[in-house]
Amino acid sequence: MALRSAGLFIRKELTSTTSRQLSTTTPLNNTFLKNSPNAYLNKQILERYKSLETPKNRVQATYLWIDGTGENVRLKDRVLDFVPKAVSDLPKWQYDGSSTYQAAGENSDTTLVPRAIYKDPFKPGKNDILVVCDTYSADGKPTESNKRASLMEDMNKVEKEHEPWFGIEQEYTLLDIDGRPFGWPENGFPAPQGPYYCAVGANRVYARDLVEAHAVACLYAGVDFAGTNAEVMPAQWEYQVGPSLGMKASDDLWVSRYILQRIAEEYGVVVTFDPKPVEGQWNGAGAHTNFSTKAMRADGGMKAIEAAIQKLSKHQERHIRAYDPKEGKDNERRLIGRLETSSITEFSWGVANRACSVRIPRGVADAQKGYLEDRRPSSNCDPYAVCGALVRTCLVE
Ligand SMILES: [Mg+2]
Repeated sequence: MALRSAGLFIRKELTSTTSRQLSTTTPLNNTFLKNSPNAYLNKQILERYKSLETPKNRVQATYLWIDGTGENVRLKDRVLDFVPKAVSDLPKWQYDGSSTYQAAGENSDTTLVPRAIYKDPFKPGKNDILVVCDTYSADGKPTESNKRASLMEDMNKVEKEHEPWFGIEQEYTLLDIDGRPFGWPENGFPAPQGPYYCAVGANRVYARDLVEAHAVACLYAGVDFAGTNAEVMPAQWEYQVGPSLGMKASDDLWVSRYILQRIAEEYGVVVTFDPKPVEGQWNGAGAHTNFSTKAMRADGGMKAIEAAIQKLSKHQERHIRAYDPKEGKDNERRLIGRLETSSITEFSWGVANRACSVRIPRGVADAQKGYLEDRRPSSNCDPYAVCGALVRTCLVE
């Protein structure tokens, strides 16, 4: 019912801009989630089975991996006959890489190597786990979309000395099953941006339940979950992970994306990480990445921050290629030099300036130490590739 009235209200707020041909005479017709099968399943039925007693030594493990698109998560479940104590206890596993854009049909066995364990917020057993894996082709080499392997290699070289921390701000948009931003009127647009960011109220914010369920599930899982907020475009949200040392922020981001999509699936709602889900005067979605080293965090760390920015300024192209799964093509739609973004071709930086490639937050400039914020990564970026580019440019070379 809340959504129904939200729709009514938006319709009243519709602007009369001529570029937006809005039918003010169409009667409101509540079609939210009408065609979403999952929205209609009775979720109570599963609860009956979840409370059945299962053998104590049986553990359900969900293996997660990134498919050949570089942006979608795949998963399959297996039952273990022991309780794993560490990720090294877990067996490798094969899957059909020809069905995930990762191998040819005649040589399709692709290998999952377990890398990190999280508690599973969906399965009923207290030992049930989510397992972050990376993927290897038949020849033993990392698959093309496995950006984790090279990040791990570089991290092993620099982690001890530099203690790199990453914090990532994940923006995303909720859609109805037909691809329309969730809660938007069927014919037309909501009122222009302004009242929605960090807002409250049924006429401004949609699906907060989902957002709050996600926060709790991530905390339960062991993600360094740091917060959430409603974003500038209605139906757009953000959450943050980190700051965390080394690989953890990237692993956490992938796990948190999986959890978000699972919860949304239960509601019958679709999550998109597309960096520009609606054309026009609507903010795109990014994955601003906050980065620091031991030297940047120490007194007088501004020197180390400026040195890193100097290096970054020389590698704009390398970073743009690493910052979305289509090597810059996705970000072309988002980094337009307007709507709180910088130009895709030119590197820029500044204090407290959100139209820059790299921003130094005001508090960091005042304290002369802290971190930098790289605002270029798109919302559908692979954090292994993003953190990998930062580590390579600023620390390895
Ligand atoms: Mg944001």
